[in-house]
Amino acid sequence: MGVHPPETGAVSTDGSGPINGATVSMTHLVSARLFFYLYQQVSHAESMKIQSITSDLFYIPLPEVLTDSTHGVMEHFALVTVRIRDNQGLEGLGYTYTVGKTGGAAILSMLEYDIKRLLLGEDPNEIDRIFDKLWWALHYVGRGGIASFAISAVDIALWDLKSKRANQPLWKFLGGVDDQVKAYAGGIDLQLPIDRLEAQTQENLDRGFRAIKMKVGRDKLEEDVKRVAAMRDFLGPDLPLMVDANMRWSVNQATEAAKAFADYNIYWLEEPVIPEDFQGHRRVLAEGGIPIASGENLHTIYEFEKLITAGGVSYPEPDVANVGGITIWRKVAQMAEQAGLPVTSHGVHDLHVHLLAAAPNASFLEAHGFGLERFLEYPLQIEEGFATAPSRTGHGVCLDWDALEHHRGPNLN
Ligand SMILES: [Mg+2]
Repeated sequence: MGVHPPETGAVSTDGSGPINGATVSMTHLVSARLFFYLYQQVSHAESMKIQSITSDLFYIPLPEVLTDSTHGVMEHFALVTVRIRDNQGLEGLGYTYTVGKTGGAAILSMLEYDIKRLLLGEDPNEIDRIFDKLWWALHYVGRGGIASFAISAVDIALWDLKSKRANQPLWKFLGGVDDQVKAYAGGIDLQLPIDRLEAQTQENLDRGFRAIKMKVGRDKLEEDVKRVAAMRDFLGPDLPLMVDANMRWSVNQATEAAKAFADYNIYWLEEPVIPEDFQGHRRVLAEGGIPIASGENLHTIYEFEKLITAGGVSYPEPDVANVGGITIWRKVAQMAEQAGLPVTSHGVHDLHVHLLAAAPNASFLEAHGFGLERFLEYPLQIEEGFATAPSRTGHGVCLDWDALEHHRGPNLN
């Protein structure tokens, strides 16, 4: 850009002539240093390049076996990490995950064989352009699915890198609204007997949560109603209680369930039907009488647009690790805001706490990390119902790579 550092023979800022050594003021020194600093910033920005990309797959055993109405018994989750290093030695971390071990190796494969070569040499500051480049390069096999997971991990790493470079925590870099984010404990507890359900809930209340989500979608609706009634009784009349059906029902079944739950002051019913049935969502919302949350299984901005414009959701619930990263998560949040809706989140709470802290229409943060906290230097803390967005630069997630090494997935080679 033709910007040059100041020459040593400085000229006074009022134009009155050369400055003698004895008359150099602090103001001139500061001005010169500021100019040189700005020069460095501009020249750095000009020459910034992605120098290396490292992607890894880990199969993380869950602390306890989990069950929901669709995914059945879960013993592991697959964690795919992406580390992007620029030519000045700064590194950004992104990650995504899948339920069980399914798909983890495919995501890693796409990162290694397709995405890596598309990223090397790119300017990591140009996140929107990189998103478009990846989206269209992978379009034929993508438009959601594995490609959205892989792009998400890359996009998160780029935003981490960019906010680190700006020396700001991610939530402030994104516009910063409030570092206090209300959070709920997302239980995966469909098969727990009621006494264990209540014991788990008490543990979550003791940890600082003041809102709880439980699974529904058992074989008989009356079993669900009995469990929801017991939970409402346990929590008292006002503490927010969400229920999550994990796409188990038909529209008619979901509507019947929503009506049955309406007596128990349910904050939202989550994923009542399959994610692609936007009109079905609308019907369940209109006829069931309780708010609907949905979106963890929508992996493109276009699907969210259809769901929101169909009037099928009260709480859009994008997951930054599968919707296309921070770039698309924010677009969904803005789309929700324009429709007068709050936005919530799914999984990866260490990332979503930043995004909700930067969203003027933030609803609850789902806190449930599949036990990833065992591998984090700074696990999320909850106090009196709120999580605090970290003040470390970037997203501030520091993984214990040595501990993860014990859980490394298959080598693609
Ligand atoms: Mg859910």
